[in-house]
Amino acid sequence: VKWTEGRGWHEAQLVPYAPLSLDPANMTLHYAQTIFEGLKAYRRPDGTVATFRPDQNAERFQTSARRMGMPELPVETFVAACDALVTQDKAWVPGHGEQSLYLRPFMFATEVGLGVRPANEFLFVVIASPAGAYFPGGVQPVSVWLSEEYVRAAPGGTGAAKTGGNYAASLVAQAQAAEQGCDQVVWLDAIERRWIEEMGGMNLYFVYGDRIVTPELSGSLLPGITRASLLEIAADLGYEVTEGRISVDDWREGNADGTLTEVFACGTAAVITPVGSVKSARASWTVADGEPGEVTMRLRKALLDVQTGAAPDPHGWMHPLG
Ligand code: PMP
Repeated sequence: VKWTEGRGWHEAQLVPYAPLSLDPANMTLHYAQTIFEGLKAYRRPDGTVATFRPDQNAERFQTSARRMGMPELPVETFVAACDALVTQDKAWVPGHGEQSLYLRPFMFATEVGLGVRPANEFLFVVIASPAGAYFPGGVQPVSVWLSEEYVRAAPGGTGAAKTGGNYAASLVAQAQAAEQGCDQVVWLDAIERRWIEEMGGMNLYFVYGDRIVTPELSGSLLPGITRASLLEIAADLGYEVTEGRISVDDWREGNADGTLTEVFACGTAAVITPVGSVKSARASWTVADGEPGEVTMRLRKALLDVQTGAAPDPHGWMHPLG
């Protein structure tokens, strides 16, 4: 779907996957006016296919668009585009377990020019790819690198938007994590470099027995849809679940004195993944016994059961496509 100043959204098309051709002065290549989303379609036991909370992705896409000076795509247009692609690709939605079809809606500037200002022409596109488990080890606990040198996002910045620049800013730290033998980066707040924000592509949850805490939306972390869904699922299951501030010291000390029993990460791609070990320039420790925790696995199953249609959907989160 195209957007042009004065004309609005027009020319919705469903076309075979193919390269795009771009002018060398395309504004996106220079000024990075891009936003994207990620959501999944699951096949259910009765053979039908459903996406998980596409309206929430559509709303976050609008929030991202506002922050990036881009036009807002109507929620219905976003959802209809995802529906059209899934319907077209239904034969490729894998049929069992955690496998799914990952959808990547995105928007970028198509205007040509070198002036630094919001563009006045954009293209909205959705592509899809079959997806298995995000981390090759499945529910193997991941190891994380606490990045104290770099920050991903700062107050007033674009951290709460799903825009390419945030990911570009995170790549060097991700490479450092790999050098340290870790799977993922954990980001801290930009001001004090003390408060836990999120991982490279997932939000975090801290489990203290029956009490569960996730870092509050500081304005510089991405409001994950999995994160928001788990706040509700955890409450449904009887846990005391809150949003709050967790410092690196809280994490290390809670781990050392045994009050912190589990840590896990959550996001569309991997759903829920236990965090097994932590490393920073100053310290490293194993989270609890380094094995997937009971609460982590219980929440993971509860969420996946709704997504894959193995359990009822009390919140009406699934969007069935027949
Ligand atoms: N944080 C970041 C930086 C992400 O890229 C993602 C993935 N979209 C998440 C958190 C998790 O968000 P969601 O649950 O909506 O996938």
